[in-house]
Amino acid sequence: MVNFLIHRLFGWAVYAPLQKWVGGLPFFAQLFAVLLAADLVQYWTHRAYHEIPFLWRFHAVHHSAEHMDWMAGSRLHMFELITTRVSILGVLYLLGFSESVMNVYIIVVGFQAVFNHANVRLPAFFAQAPVKYLIVTPDFHHWHHSSEREAIDRNYAAHFAFIDYLFGTAVKSDRRFPGKYGVLGDYMPASFIKQQLFPFTWKG
Ligand SMILES: [Zn+2]
Ligand SMILES: [Zn+2]
Repeated sequence: MVNFLIHRLFGWAVYAPLQKWVGGLPFFAQLFAVLLAADLVQYWTHRAYHEIPFLWRFHAVHHSAEHMDWMAGSRLHMFELITTRVSILGVLYLLGFSESVMNVYIIVVGFQAVFNHANVRLPAFFAQAPVKYLIVTPDFHHWHHSSEREAIDRNYAAHFAFIDYLFGTAVKSDRRFPGKYGVLGDYMPASFIKQQLFPFTWKG
């Protein structure tokens, strides 16, 4: 479905000379660019999912996890799953990254999506400068899932933490991990079907 929608929605905008230029850049330049482009699209779609009340109805499903573990990243509403993937992969498709770069990107994004939700405590090295400003780690994304005041609508990035520092949305806490997770008010039903119906049934 994502593949179909990308060609339907973005097909008209393909500009072959741009794709040829991007696809011909050195491997590591492309890899950095693909992660940066993906994360910039992800940052703004994710932020829209938080700040636009209609979209929050869908994204609240992802935030309803009350304990962090490696499966928490898969807790998503189908509408969000599809729209986010179409937005990010649509832009990457237009930019024309090479097949080998896209394959490595898929491995990185798959790993970070699982790992950053996992219940792991990395060595202190990863929680200090410069690493904490550079890459998104479990420390960083766990704060995104906290229901504590200082964490609300913060830490949106998925690959590069500096994007949140750049746009002024990074959590600045002296604690490594928050104490409480989930949505404020705990209004999300527990079953898969009820969560998929939640955006259309919530009176909030
Ligand atoms: Zn979120
Ligand atoms: Zn998450």
